[in-house]
Amino acid sequence: MLPDLEQLIQLQRLTNTAMEAQRDLEAIPGRLDAVNSQLTAHVEAVTAANDRLARKKTERQGVEKSLAEVQARLSRFKDQLMSVKTNKEYAAIQHEMATAEADVRKLEDAILEHMLEFDELKTVGEAAEETLEINRVETEQIRTAFESERTELERVIDSASGERGKLSETIGEPARQLFDRIAERSGGVAVVPAQNGHCTLCNVRLRPQVFNQILLNTALIQCDSCKRILYHEPNSLENSKAPIDSAR
Ligand SMILES: [Zn+2]
Repeated sequence: MLPDLEQLIQLQRLTNTAMEAQRDLEAIPGRLDAVNSQLTAHVEAVTAANDRLARKKTERQGVEKSLAEVQARLSRFKDQLMSVKTNKEYAAIQHEMATAEADVRKLEDAILEHMLEFDELKTVGEAAEETLEINRVETEQIRTAFESERTELERVIDSASGERGKLSETIGEPARQLFDRIAERSGGVAVVPAQNGHCTLCNVRLRPQVFNQILLNTALIQCDSCKRILYHEPNSLENSKAPIDSAR
């Protein structure tokens, strides 16, 4: 294989590794945001449940206060009943007492209902809190995993860029410049394999004599369409008709 071509293939591999790692690295903040929003949603669910509980409690206290008032009224009527002089007065107070007793029953029913609702809300709140705690632990684990991932990706990028620097120095100037020129306007991809008579990147069909030349790996040949440097991968199954062990 042409030494320049072999080195450019290696340079592209290192570039791809670095680009891929860079892409993954840039995706981490977005993934972290998604995890954080989930946690925020769980926190909000717990807050909402606690607010509902507090409201329900205040409502019940209001009903309890009303009940105490009615009960006080009722006991006043009982006292008055002892000192009535006429049947008419007696009947009037008894009527008032019946009304107050009906109110007591209504308020007691309401309190019971409030207590049942309170218990239901409490169960919902406890479940939300449990879910939040689980999510908190998971979020912490995910954040730690993201941190390790970030460290590893940075290591990969550093190592690939170090190797690229060293490799670049050994490549002939024209070949390296050609690579840089193509890479700059083609999203970093300057060297791609050709397979089955096609450029694997832009998929254009190559002229047979061009493809045959590519199979030899003895020159820097660019795709007519996307201008990327093409090469043949000797161990590729698609190119089984290629000469065996054509490397070097
Ligand atoms: Zn192409």
